[in-house]
Amino acid sequence: MEVPSQHSQHERAQELPLLTDSATVSSVDHLDENRTEEIVDRVFDLLDQHGRDEVRAQVERLAANDIDWDELESLLDEEDYGNLRTVVDTLRKRFERSFPGLLQLRFEFDDEFDFVPGQYATVRFEDTPRPYSIASSPNDDAIETAVRRVPGGRLTSKMFSDISEGDEVVLRGPNGEFVLQEPSTRDMAFLATGTGVAPLKSMIEFTFEEGRDEVGGERRDLWLFLGASWEDDLPYRERFRELDDERENFHFVPTCSREEYLTDWDGETSYVQQTLVKYLTEAARADLDGKMAGVADQDPKYDVDARVDPSDLEVYACGINVMVGTLVDTVRSLGVPDEYVEFEGFG
Ligand SMILES: Cc1cc2nc3c(=O)[nH]c(=O)nc-3n(C[C@H](O)[C@H](O)[C@H](O)COP(=O)(O)OP(=O)(O)OC[C@H]3O[C@@H](n4cnc5c(N)ncnc54)[C@H](O)[C@@H]3O)c2cc1C
Repeated sequence: MEVPSQHSQHERAQELPLLTDSATVSSVDHLDENRTEEIVDRVFDLLDQHGRDEVRAQVERLAANDIDWDELESLLDEEDYGNLRTVVDTLRKRFERSFPGLLQLRFEFDDEFDFVPGQYATVRFEDTPRPYSIASSPNDDAIETAVRRVPGGRLTSKMFSDISEGDEVVLRGPNGEFVLQEPSTRDMAFLATGTGVAPLKSMIEFTFEEGRDEVGGERRDLWLFLGASWEDDLPYRERFRELDDERENFHFVPTCSREEYLTDWDGETSYVQQTLVKYLTEAARADLDGKMAGVADQDPKYDVDARVDPSDLEVYACGINVMVGTLVDTVRSLGVPDEYVEFEGFG
């Protein structure tokens, strides 16, 4: 097998100079949607279909977009409305969430800011620095990040209210050892929830741009398993859907735990690690026991011809620590050797 030389991203990462540079915000966009009206319409329909008279009385108020959630929930008693209550409570939480909750920020530099896919930079805005994974490919002419709002968070509160195009920030970096392995013929599985997909986006784009998805004449499959509560919490979903259409060997597998409460979402709804198991080869599924065997028996929701073979796989996992820990335990238990598992937690 021919393996291209000088492609170790670990070595390249070590060689890069650490820079502290001022940069200009070149764009600020939200990646999520304002779904307030959609939620009101949905609750309206649910009450209309299932409510008794006193619950229906809420319907008119809902139509006026003036929903009294406390009163509504007090009417949905546990005994008669167990299920509906759960759904309404979930929709209420989403209704009360601040919008936007997910920003895409792009930064431009006067000089170059070199990094390798997977690394992060520390962004200082209004005197508060925090690390953010770089979501763009090094071949892009700007640095891009995807930032989730953390309620009460020091930097994200300022960013979500103040940051705008033309603002100056300071970027320090690059940092981080969560980078691509040398190209091999192994397939690649990228696993993430929410903004954990940012460094994976950089890795995936770079892999295709540099032709690293074909090694020694063999095409590798790239899988992206991405989880979130709501569909619009999947950062870059449109970009990944396009890539899935364009590239036969890229498989985007989004999974959303709550979207079906709001829409007729018929995609995956389980945790990322459970979703992964559904797409394993038949041989790998036959080896599973316990709860995972039950999950593996379920049919995948998406029509993909390829399957994931853990014995021929390298894995990149990113997101909040607890979730990454679970993902890494799962892929190890499936038999992916440690040296082929790279991961990073956000704290
Ligand atoms: C290597 C690395 C890469 C990162 N990349 C990204 C990224 O690409 N996108 C991104 O949005 N964040 C990323 N983070 C997290 C980011 O650095 C900040 O911690 C986050 O934006 C919160 O900052 P804050 O100042 O608003 O909150 P703070 O005032 O610092 O923290 C408030 C509290 O919120 C907790 N918290 C931090 N992050 C989250 C979260 N995501 N969800 C819930 N609670 C949280 C903190 O632990 C703390 O207890 C990354 C962190 C690390 C270490």
